Amino acid sequence: MFKREDAISRLKKAEPWDVLIAGGGATGLGAAVESASRGYRTLLVERSDFAKGTSSRSTKLVHGGVRYLAQGDISLVLDALEERGLLMKNAAHLVKNQVFVIPNYEWWGGPFYTIGLKVYDMMAGRLGMGPSEHISKEELMELIPNLIETDLKGGVIYHDGQFDDSRLAINLAQTAVEHNACLINYCELISFIKNDEDMIIAAIVKDKESGDEYEVRSKTFINACGVFVDHLVKLDDKESPQKVVASQGIHLVLDKSFLQGKHAIMIPKTSDGRVLFAVPWHDKVIVGTTDTLVNMILEDPKALDEEIDFILSTAKLYLTKAPRREDVLSVFAGLRPLAAPEVEGRPTKEISRNHKITISLSGLITIIGGKWTTYRQMGEDLIDKAKLLGGLPQSECKTKELKIHGYVPEPDFEDHFYVYGSDKKDLMKLIDDNPDYALKLDPELHYVAGQVIWAVRNEMARTVEDVLARRLRALFLNVKASVRMAPKVAQMMAIELDRDSKWIEQEIKSFNKVASTYML
Ligand SMILES: Cc1cc2nc3c(=O)[nH]c(=O)nc-3n(C[C@H](O)[C@H](O)[C@H](O)COP(=O)(O)OP(=O)(O)OC[C@H]3O[C@@H](n4cnc5c(N)ncnc54)[C@H](O)[C@@H]3O)c2cc1C
Repeated sequence: MFKREDAISRLKKAEPWDVLIAGGGATGLGAAVESASRGYRTLLVERSDFAKGTSSRSTKLVHGGVRYLAQGDISLVLDALEERGLLMKNAAHLVKNQVFVIPNYEWWGGPFYTIGLKVYDMMAGRLGMGPSEHISKEELMELIPNLIETDLKGGVIYHDGQFDDSRLAINLAQTAVEHNACLINYCELISFIKNDEDMIIAAIVKDKESGDEYEVRSKTFINACGVFVDHLVKLDDKESPQKVVASQGIHLVLDKSFLQGKHAIMIPKTSDGRVLFAVPWHDKVIVGTTDTLVNMILEDPKALDEEIDFILSTAKLYLTKAPRREDVLSVFAGLRPLAAPEVEGRPTKEISRNHKITISLSGLITIIGGKWTTYRQMGEDLIDKAKLLGGLPQSECKTKELKIHGYVPEPDFEDHFYVYGSDKKDLMKLIDDNPDYALKLDPELHYVAGQVIWAVRNEMARTVEDVLARRLRALFLNVKASVRMAPKVAQMMAIELDRDSKWIEQEIKSFNKVASTYML
């Protein structure tokens, strides 16, 4: 069962582990599924909530990366296309086939992008999602009626995947637990213990709810802390040079009237050479992203004014209904971990998104970079290294075929509850049995009270933010609505978790503080 209390009792029993993973984002969770499904005794600790970091703040694309193809990074695109196909197969309840349109305002755009995308289709091979093709201006205007028509020559359509990032993270956590892994949120790795040969043999982890600390022995240790990897690297060896720098990317969320129809837009080259996407997502549209090196690595990064202005002014060049600051329903910022030495003197958008694994002399396995799309491959690579380093028994990778928790073969993406996949029937039963649970939490979003109860009982939600940001996506879809929902959610959670009125007050305060970073 995916219950925090069960996980804490396993910690108390001082079980020995084969693999200890710090970090519960896409990378750490992928490693946990890989490790547990091979039969290794697996513990994952996440100091905040699962996917609290970059993994809930992505563009929500499962893609090969048309941009990387243009940069000539063929192996990254090939790997990502294969992983895209596997994810479509194994997490069909969360990954949609999304049609993208590249509008061409230059005469050469049509043939140029059609050829490039034919190569993209060929590279996907049997895991392709549908052929790309050139379309006329008239066809394009039918697909996206509110595209600016002046100088439009035609367009190219292609297919990629689109998903819900934090929902997939929760489902990966559940999948790992179903294979006997132990996963705990609000539990931080705070130090390492080494033997006489200076090898790491244990770690101290701290339960941030109770304040209790536990010594955890393991054969191997994986640092999957995203932009925070350097903290663990320094805990291991304080002389170690910095491994990571952070590049920020932001997205604006708008009402769907700004992008009519079901198609997404991809602008391959904006005024400063970036790629911009406008993608329908949960009845809204997300527009992004940017690529800005930042000095401060914060848990709740905030969009910069120039990033917001850049997205608004670029969107205005393509959309007849030009979005203004007051139209933005929510803005979210995420940090890409980039390998530090590679950054010097190079624009961040040109740096490869391939992942990089290093092993320190004391045995700490650290992973940097990568993409959500390739999380499975990254997990496989990590556990292959752990197997060798820790002398773990031979066991083959099974994740290429492994269905992710919630899998259903043919989801109905028109139904708001589709993200629950195979859990939907139990959620519906919970709601049917309690008429109060069918009540909407806010008139502007479709979420109902029963989903809060479900998140606490079945998805390890511990705080109001866990529910409103990552189990439901209210904070990302409409920040003002989420602030209105917070008091009700806090009250319901307090009953479920047996908390007092002080907890409710504190939770609303902390949620409002985080929400302020999503507000314009
Ligand atoms: C703007 C943007 C858009 C993107 N869009 C896409 C996309 O559309 N498709 C795609 O494939 N990829 C995309 N990516 C890339 C993808 O989101 C990232 O590669 C991925 O989410 C990184 O996951 P991670 O697990 O490495 O890091 P994170 O998600 O940041 O996870 C690291 C975790 O470690 C935890 N942690 C830190 N210190 C400790 C400690 N001491 N103990 C325990 N836990 C700790 C943190 O709390 C955090 O939850 C995008 C990235 C950005 C920035």
